[in-house]
Amino acid sequence: MDDVELPILGTEPLVVEFANTLYGDEDFLGTTELAVLWFTTAHAQPARDTAAARSLRDSIHSLFTATVTAAAPPATAIVHVNAAAAQAPTSPQLVRQPTGAFVAGPRGTATGDAALLGGLATACIELLTDDRARLLRRCESPGCCLFFVQRHPRRRYCHESCAHRDRQARYYRRRAAS
Ligand SMILES: [Zn+2]
Repeated sequence: MDDVELPILGTEPLVVEFANTLYGDEDFLGTTELAVLWFTTAHAQPARDTAAARSLRDSIHSLFTATVTAAAPPATAIVHVNAAAAQAPTSPQLVRQPTGAFVAGPRGTATGDAALLGGLATACIELLTDDRARLLRRCESPGCCLFFVQRHPRRRYCHESCAHRDRQARYYRRRAAS
């Protein structure tokens, strides 16, 4: 397992990194072992239910794909993400102290998978409804399909290594053509 290269950019919101676990035909949540490795490497508590994590990832991935391709998203994915987010409500709580003063209580009391997957679903909703939705991109390098949030207007690749690979590919194509 040590030699597995995970598709973690380290520059993106966790929910984008989460969507990127589906990399073409490769599923980096494909086994429980891989999923635990991914979650711990991405600095998140591993999901107990890998199948549930994978299923939510699929829904988020399809919503991101629809966003970057300006296609209609599957309605089932919207329902799924909303349902997962509802499992970990993050609405503020009004708490009255013995002194009579009000304080804001903890946001969300869910634990375990409900908190983890609910948090990712909530992050997906936030990303798709704020400025980042129109900045969501897919890497332009041939053979790469990672999502990233285009914070720099000229960024076209998920990572410098992809930019390099694309330049190389074009160089070889030019040479082959000449
Ligand atoms: Zn890339």
